[in-house]
Formats: sequence, structure tokens, C-alpha cells
Amino acid sequence: MMNTKGKILQLQHYSVNDGDGIRTIVFFAGCPLRCRWCSNPEGWEARDRILYIASRCIGCGRCTSVCPRQVGCDLNAPGEREKCVDCGACVKACLEHARKHSVTEWTVQQVLDWLEKELIFFRESGGGVTYSGGECTQQPEFLHELARAVYDLGLNQAMETCGYFPLEKLQPTLDLMDLLFMDIKHMDRAKHRQFTGVDNDLILHNIAALGKQNKNIVVRIPTIMGVNGDEENIRNTARFVREHLPEPKLELLPYHSYGADKYTQLGLSYDEQAFRRPTDEELARLRAIVTEEGVEAVSYR
Ligand code: SF4
Ligand code: SF4
Ligand code: SF4
Repeated sequence: MMNTKGKILQLQHYSVNDGDGIRTIVFFAGCPLRCRWCSNPEGWEARDRILYIASRCIGCGRCTSVCPRQVGCDLNAPGEREKCVDCGACVKACLEHARKHSVTEWTVQQVLDWLEKELIFFRESGGGVTYSGGECTQQPEFLHELARAVYDLGLNQAMETCGYFPLEKLQPTLDLMDLLFMDIKHMDRAKHRQFTGVDNDLILHNIAALGKQNKNIVVRIPTIMGVNGDEENIRNTARFVREHLPEPKLELLPYHSYGADKYTQLGLSYDEQAFRRPTDEELARLRAIVTEEGVEAVSYR
């Protein structure tokens, strides 16, 4: 039995994104970055937080009656979130599913039990498992044990990562992967820090080092007008990719604001107006720049 425990946001089944064939995506909790457009703010910390979905709340008060901290029905009302210790008692008590855990704990064996039910789909489609997040490398022991077990099942494995990890420590896990999706959120060091909270030195270093190892890498840009969707940044990124990857591939992922509700549910603010999705024409132009620079513009979506 593999009893190492990990904090998981979600297991997404039968996905056709983020790798070949039919896949299960394992979303790990915890991330060292704080991208201002992030659609998974509940995944920033590798700990459970309670989401409050106001539209489902009928004000019955069952949550308040079990709460050890006397938090009111509206968990996001001023002063209430600060009292909450995320004990989860209200999640059990709420019959309307207006309170929700952000994270659940799984052992490696529990994840494998799920995957084994889906083996036939993976095998027939050439699919497998993709590790995502949050940032999957934030739980290195759990990730490695799971990846080792999935490798032994003979399944295709992909990792979706922000690239901000200690390479030496992660190397044995990376060696089990068939495909790495690595983000470059901005080529400009200062802007990278401004928008994500960290600079891009480690990320660029890791991509270049893994390129030297001939790893199968797709560099991704979450493409956001107002952040990184200008022609200069896309061209600079394509040049970096061409210079450092033996088979240079880039995927432009247009920004979406699907995560905006989660900010509300966690009592956080989100400046939706600051970001814009590129139009189809803008995206086509940016893809053309990638190609002009001798880099393959790919799509896994
Ligand atoms: S138990 Fe659920 S529905 Fe009832 S007040 Fe609390 S959050 Fe709202
Ligand atoms: S998670 Fe616990 S402390 Fe927080 S509101 Fe619910 S019952 Fe109260
Ligand atoms: S790297 Fe991904 S999960 Fe982490 S903050 Fe940025 S968008 Fe969110």
C-alpha cells in the first residue's frame, strides 16, 4: 500500500486536454506564484480553505449552530473569515452545499484506485495522467511516489508546471514524464515579478536545462492582453524557446476569467477589468509571430 498523503484540489476525469488521448488530470494544491489572473486561487496554499457559495445559501443557520468560532451564515461578511479556522464542521452541516472544502487529502493508493478504473480508456486512447495544480512540484514526495506507480502501470504521463522548482530535487520525477508543459508568463524579469510575485530566473534556467536534456517540452503562455500578449513579448518568448529547445514548441492559451467566482467564494478581491482575452485576430497574429520565429505553434486544447 502506498500511504504517502497529498493535498488535492480535484481529479478531473476523461479530459482530452493537457496531453494525448483521454486523461485524468490531478490538480495538486499549493503554488509558489501568485499570478494576478490565476483561475485557481483556492490552490495557492496546500491546505484546506472553506469556500462559501452565497447563491446557494438559504440562511437556515445550520452552519452557525455547529461553528466553534460563532461565524455567521455569510462567511465572507466583514470580520467573519478572520474568525474561521477551516475546521469543516459547517461543510457537513450545510444541506445546500453552500460551504465547500477547497482541498481533500488522498493517499497515493487512493488515487491509483481511481486510475485503475479508467485503465481501459487510457490504453485505448493512448492517454494517461497529467499532473497539474496549483503547482504539482510543491508536493514532491507525493508526486514522485504517484508518478512512479503510474509509470509502473505503463501509462503516459504529463506534467503541467510553472517551472519554479529546484531542478536537482525534481529530476527523478521529471525523468518519468513523457511530456512537460512549462509556462513562461513573461520574458521581462521585472514584469514577471510584478504579475506573479517572483522573477523568471529559475523558470528560464529550468527550461533551458531540461531542453539540454532533450526532454519533450511544450512552453505555454497564458496569453493576456494587458500583461504579456504584446507582440514583443511573444516574439522574445519564441526566440528563447527556439534557442533552448531542440524541438521548439509553443502553445498560446488565451486568458479566461472562469475563476472569478472562486475569489468571491474565498472572500478575495479580483480585478477582472485589468485583463483581457485576446480576440481571434490578435491570437492569429501572435501565433503567426511564433511560426515566423521558427517555433511550432501547437494546441492541446
Ligand atoms: S448551512 Fe448552508 S444554507 Fe444554511 S445558512 Fe449556512 S451556508 Fe447557508
Ligand atoms: S470551517 Fe469551522 S470555523 Fe470556519 S466557518 Fe465553518 S465551522 Fe466555522
Ligand atoms: S502558477 Fe498557475 S496556479 Fe500558480 S498562481 Fe499562477 S496561474 Fe495560479
